[in-house]
Amino acid sequence: MFIKPNVIISKCLEHGHCRFDGSMISSQVVKDMMAYVNFIPICPEMAIGLSSPRDSLRLIDAHGEHFLIGNKTAVDYTVEMKAYVKEIADAYQGETPDGFLLKSRSPSCGVKDVKSYKVLGKAPCINKSSKGIFGGGMMEAFGDLILEDEARMMNFDIREHFYIGIFTKAEFRELSKEKTKKGLVAFHSRHKYLFMACSQNQLKILGKIVANHEHLHLDAIFESYENALNQILKRKPTKGQYTNVLLHIFGYFSENMNSEEKAYFLDMLGQYRDSRIPLMSLLMLLKSWVFRFDMDYLKIQSIFEPYPKDLIHIRDSGKIVLG
Ligand code: SF4
Repeated sequence: MFIKPNVIISKCLEHGHCRFDGSMISSQVVKDMMAYVNFIPICPEMAIGLSSPRDSLRLIDAHGEHFLIGNKTAVDYTVEMKAYVKEIADAYQGETPDGFLLKSRSPSCGVKDVKSYKVLGKAPCINKSSKGIFGGGMMEAFGDLILEDEARMMNFDIREHFYIGIFTKAEFRELSKEKTKKGLVAFHSRHKYLFMACSQNQLKILGKIVANHEHLHLDAIFESYENALNQILKRKPTKGQYTNVLLHIFGYFSENMNSEEKAYFLDMLGQYRDSRIPLMSLLMLLKSWVFRFDMDYLKIQSIFEPYPKDLIHIRDSGKIVLG
């Protein structure tokens, strides 16, 4: 049973006809997530008083500083947009969202692929990798949180990393409502192998926080743990890191395997490293052994299902390189 993550989303992604031309963007990824995620749709341009349809906006670069300017009207909306960034940043200071899913390439919502120009009108862009005023503002205000744009979510690896992040954060948010040492220990224990795949060093840091040798108050422990959790969830596991974890898990039952089973597993591991089979194949094989040897500690490990499996689609097969 997964806790629904709270995700701030650009409203034009499946949530409203709010684009400059009055359109909405269809996104299969967003449709897939709707049953599993609490989306909080916002349209920064409409929030600052613009209508839909409207004059399109452009990011203008003046000596390295960016301004949000109406393409035809030349009206400058930068101050209003920055005020809206502050409004959202303030509104979510107490209970931060579990993630952000923003529209790519938008001069407002974009986070890393926005075209910026020197002037309005017909002119070549001078940079294709600028941040939108709102998207960039969110990155600054919530830099530790999981934030993606919808174009990058077409990539399975990126999408999976986003899912892992938001569902793990949502679970921690729920846990934080009733802070107990027992709950934290169980959470840390359940995610051990997932965290190990992200970063062994960060896993040790989390472990020390849980051990609490300084005898800190529970509030302080949870705060430190959340900060470290944000850091570890930003690390996308590499194939080598996943391989290490798979071998760790295999170590639990390798003694009980015959030589053919061991050779088969190691052969599959090699295929995974060569990107010929997905991570999921190995996890499913290991999970079958977890059941066979009735290993309760491994049965609960989140690495086997870190987010709802309905979010993995057949259309991903063949195109994906997991881990
Ligand atoms: S990209 Fe952002 S500002 Fe533009 S229409 Fe979509 S939600 Fe509104």
